[in-house]
Amino acid sequence: MVEPIRLTTREQRQALIEGASFNPFLLRAEDVIVDLLTDSGTSAMSADAWGAMLRGDESYAGARSWYRFRDTVKDIFGFEQLIPTHQGRAAEHILFGVTVQPDSIVPNNAHFDTTRANIEFRGGKAVDLPCSEAGDLESDYPFKGNMDTAALDALVKREGPMRIPLIMVTVTNNTAGGQPVSMANIREISRIARAAGIPFYIDACRFAENAQFIKRREPGFSDVASIDIARQMFSFADGCTMSAKKDAFANIGGFLCSDDADLAQRERNILILSEGFPTYGGLAGRDLEAVAVGLREVLDEDYLDYRLLSTRYVVEHLRTAGIPVLVPAGGHAVYLNARQFLPHIEPLQYPGQALVVELYIEAGIRGVEIGTVMFGLDPHTGEEQAAKNDLVRLAIPRRVYTQSHMDYVLEAIEILWQRRDRVRGMRIVEAPQFLRHFTAKFARI
Ligand SMILES: *Cc1c(COP(=O)(O)O)cnc(C)c1O
Repeated sequence: MVEPIRLTTREQRQALIEGASFNPFLLRAEDVIVDLLTDSGTSAMSADAWGAMLRGDESYAGARSWYRFRDTVKDIFGFEQLIPTHQGRAAEHILFGVTVQPDSIVPNNAHFDTTRANIEFRGGKAVDLPCSEAGDLESDYPFKGNMDTAALDALVKREGPMRIPLIMVTVTNNTAGGQPVSMANIREISRIARAAGIPFYIDACRFAENAQFIKRREPGFSDVASIDIARQMFSFADGCTMSAKKDAFANIGGFLCSDDADLAQRERNILILSEGFPTYGGLAGRDLEAVAVGLREVLDEDYLDYRLLSTRYVVEHLRTAGIPVLVPAGGHAVYLNARQFLPHIEPLQYPGQALVVELYIEAGIRGVEIGTVMFGLDPHTGEEQAAKNDLVRLAIPRRVYTQSHMDYVLEAIEILWQRRDRVRGMRIVEAPQFLRHFTAKFARI
């Protein structure tokens, strides 16, 4: 897909971001020059994927497109049960709807925002157990997405399978900087889960990027095809949730897998109420086709090498310029450390949000705060505290921007770095109880 970029002036952007209550989610997309809000659903689709969409079979039940989708997912992910959904969060909503009770605990290396919100919505507790290396934003540890398996083991021994309906691991770890999870870590989580009789699920949104990191960084995998690494990852799990808007290049789509036929039956009961018939879920036949093609393309070794290298390009330039950025480079995004970038702004004045706003005003770049705005509020007590980090995520859509777009982004960040001490903090004027970062309204302090 080729799209026009409409250039705006600084004065226009100043007015536009004020009109959007200093929340870039509330901007019009056409007012954004380089859109790094998310890599979700924003990938460029291939000629093959568009071609496949034209043969989408829109039969209500048992469409040819469903069987192509099902066979592809089965081939890569390997699970017996497959529930198609319109997005990853619909898969989460259904999964937690049948597994999570008000007293439940769900451990994860780090929950993604919708995953956490879906667990909390059911009254459960979402517990993050990142490895200790994840806390050191400057360490070059190769698998900072790993879960702290000793902490998991202790939690499982303390709470037991009655309170823990499932254990999840997110690959790559979006919340902790798009960092990968090693095969050894996945194997160990699986061992702990199986010993305790607790199902183990993978949040698989960026499974292909994770597989490529394993190939490049974990001993013993350099000669293994990325598809076989992916298959091995899923062989340790009992199920997965997936957003096809990430590592399937699709604009919409997702699914939920498991090997548990009884559970899948209960999930299908909800699926029919909220998404659709079991052979299309929330998707049109043409969407199923696009996902089936995308899942194959995303495992192309050349694509994956290019993907990881292009993200590293941005991170290495920032690091060389002395700008605080999370290292090593993750797969899908660059994370600026807003708390270090703007040390004069305290966490409850949202340095990440302030940086996001300035990036837009400076150059029309749209990023997203991943910090105290996103995670600081406990929706049940209404209490607010500083999140562990205040980051700004610049997500890189797949196959969309060129190196020169990224050079423009680098220049803008460097200009902002020069005038950082003049940036002011923010306060929230209005916000909803759940997932407040999407629609909150802000004012400058
Ligand atoms: C995007 C994402 C989800 C949710 O998927 P949607 O398709 O946006 O609903 C869940 N987990 C992770 C890690 C994600 O990145």
